[in-house]
Amino acid sequence: MAQQMKSVKPSCNGKSRFETMGGALEEVPCLLCKSTSWTDYDTENGYRLVKCSDCGLLFTNPRPSSSEIDAASKSGMHKGDEELEVSGEFRPFMKEIYLSVLNDFQYPAKFTSDAPVDWLDIGCGHGEFVEALNIVGGEGIAVTGLEPNEHKRAAAKTRGMDLVFFDTTEHDRTYDVISALNVFSHLPDPREDIGQWVSMLNEGGELFLQTGDSSHLEAKHHHKPYSLPDHLSFASETLLVAMLESLGLEVVQVMKYRMGMFPRFTPVNIVKEIARFFLPGHTATFQFFPKHPERDMYIRARKPMNRENG
Ligand SMILES: [Zn+2]
Repeated sequence: MAQQMKSVKPSCNGKSRFETMGGALEEVPCLLCKSTSWTDYDTENGYRLVKCSDCGLLFTNPRPSSSEIDAASKSGMHKGDEELEVSGEFRPFMKEIYLSVLNDFQYPAKFTSDAPVDWLDIGCGHGEFVEALNIVGGEGIAVTGLEPNEHKRAAAKTRGMDLVFFDTTEHDRTYDVISALNVFSHLPDPREDIGQWVSMLNEGGELFLQTGDSSHLEAKHHHKPYSLPDHLSFASETLLVAMLESLGLEVVQVMKYRMGMFPRFTPVNIVKEIARFFLPGHTATFQFFPKHPERDMYIRARKPMNRENG
């Protein structure tokens, strides 16, 4: 049932673009299993996060109507980005994290063949992951970074990086690997959107996804802010593995890391958290001992070779 959009507070990305649109809200079935049965989970910014009674996905419901969730959302647009003159900046520490993750997933071994690996990174932001891939892959990789936010593309250009933007639903190229880090929660229809990416994979190609493993947690243990309604859903390892398998993929490897917002309890980190507490728009959490800190999840999944052709 449609109702008038409420004014929302700034999200983690700054000002929400929905703040000024005054658009309608729409109630939606579960984004994964289409169930219309759910229970209240939590609220934020005047929005309600519900839990699907059938599969357990957490999703914003009601949410901004589909006419306001456009192609950009499907490639990682953070809603606040459009109205911000500056949309953050390149974070060198993220590149270091990605280099270590690529090693954990044994990706360097993939970049040794004669033909460069064709890799598309969807929602690449300032290009930290693209840069990490180029370092690890060298001559053995050809990376395309897809980023809907023009400010981020312009910023990347000053670093000598050419990021592009296109609508994935109208794209006819295929790739060896498609990655999407921190994009899942923005997808209006995850099964359909990720299914579209699977259709853009070569046979034997791979998906590499990163998102939180959190929908099974009690609300009091869930990381916050949820950043509703920019984040449309939160999943778990169980849900994502099941979805990828239902799209015909084989899950090769899953790894979970301590979420960045949960600092390790060291003297240096205690000092850093205190400093963050006093910075404007402070980001200190002081959550040194959260329940289930390892919820930053990466999944590598493969599209099987078509046996009829092989
Ligand atoms: Zn469901």
